[in-house]
Amino acid sequence: MLYVSTRGGRERLASAYAIKQGLSPDGGLYMPEFIPQFGKEQFDALCAMNYPERAAFILSRFLSDYAESELLADCRMAYAEDRFTGGPAPVKSLNDRLHVLELWHGPTCAFKDIALQIMPRLLSRALYKTGEKRDAFILVATSGDTGKAALEGYRDTDRVRIMVFYPADGVSRIQMLQMATQEGKNVEVRSVKGNFDDTQNGIKKILADPETAGLLSDGGYFLSSANSINWGRLAPQIVYYFSAYCDLVKQGKLKRDEKINICVPTGNFGNIFAAYIAEQAGLPVGKLICASNRNNILSDFMNTGIYDRNRRFYTTSSPSMDILISSNLERMLYLSAGSTRTAEYMRRLSEKGAYTAESDVRSGFDRIFRGYFCNEEDTLHTITDTFGEYQYLTDTHTAVGMSCARQYIQETRDETPMLVVSTASPYKFASDVYRALSGRQYDDEFANIAALSELTKTEIPPSLSELSKKIIRFDPGLPVNPDDMKSELLHTLR
Ligand SMILES: *Cc1c(COP(=O)(O)O)cnc(C)c1O
Repeated sequence: MLYVSTRGGRERLASAYAIKQGLSPDGGLYMPEFIPQFGKEQFDALCAMNYPERAAFILSRFLSDYAESELLADCRMAYAEDRFTGGPAPVKSLNDRLHVLELWHGPTCAFKDIALQIMPRLLSRALYKTGEKRDAFILVATSGDTGKAALEGYRDTDRVRIMVFYPADGVSRIQMLQMATQEGKNVEVRSVKGNFDDTQNGIKKILADPETAGLLSDGGYFLSSANSINWGRLAPQIVYYFSAYCDLVKQGKLKRDEKINICVPTGNFGNIFAAYIAEQAGLPVGKLICASNRNNILSDFMNTGIYDRNRRFYTTSSPSMDILISSNLERMLYLSAGSTRTAEYMRRLSEKGAYTAESDVRSGFDRIFRGYFCNEEDTLHTITDTFGEYQYLTDTHTAVGMSCARQYIQETRDETPMLVVSTASPYKFASDVYRALSGRQYDDEFANIAALSELTKTEIPPSLSELSKKIIRFDPGLPVNPDDMKSELLHTLR
């Protein structure tokens, strides 16, 4: 299986090269040349497996230059019980037709762990497979969740170092503590004066700076990034859709071949695109509901065909979905419009901030996608309603998904079973969740966590309760100037 760019460059690469490089030189994203099919026999085989085996089985079809035995060894390590208590992707049923896929049982309590626990192993192997002499130096700018999940995934990985920059003014106290207490020999964490844009711009300057690249290369490193446009992050997300379907069939809650609708809280379009690939590979999916928060650029696009980022950016209670450039949408455009038109849309997006999809492209989306959004007030109400109705606690992101699933069902009367994807533990966003349920909120986040547990009689994830006792390794009180990020990086090389 070879990989091509969404913008039509002529290269065709094995997956190890696509994972090592991340982005194509023409600016496009890598896509498999075709989508492997999982027929009845493979499906039955999958259902008889445990999660690491399911993951290795599915990944081996997409990453055919990796041996299935290598993938199985990596998946067994990545998805071991001590990292994902109770399994990486358990399904909870709220009633006969409403199910929740919980993806936050990993070390950092957000769904990004599922990809970021395996991707470092894939990268590490890619260095050997491609004959790369240098080691990878991963640079990350984070607004919160990605940075911690990447640190935890890459810590102590062979031939990889990682450095994360986060905005001193832009992350929650829990997220700051999660990063400042990070363990591992190959990790560095710095806070940056300013907001996320300042941090992101600083990183972009470093990535485009030939002097830094030269000095790193002299030191035996090449720069790489860990963000969600890398195919190595997308492929592992296909697995849990098959896994959830198998589990529901085994529990007698779905008939074999019965369709299921899936609703995904969406930001960068990575998670929902993985669901689309699963459908293309043979999973019986009815509709994919793309759930946005108040930054509803995607639901507007699905409903009008116009993608327009010239609009206000809102900071919401579901910060991981506060995005106006949804990078992975490019992959779906490529599948429905082809590479020439995709390259043209992306050119218009960068020049004018907007593009309009033609009607044939829109039909490609309309066949399966539906876009809905949920404002701030309804997000908090949905947390309260869902807890009242089902005694089921959701975080703010999942609440956006719940609300959109409900809107879709009310509007269409579609009775197909619905799977809502739950992307973060409620305890990761405890202050908003506690406020939704009680009308109160404490200044200290650990007080909100304790109060939420007391009120709902649910368990605090150990990795969050232990946080208050951990040793700070990277002093958050010493933020660097954005202009000094480069010298900070070069300093750590010595
Ligand atoms: C990253 C993230 C999302 C958005 O996922 P995409 O793949 O970017 O669409 C949703 N919820 C949470 C909690 C996240 O961390």
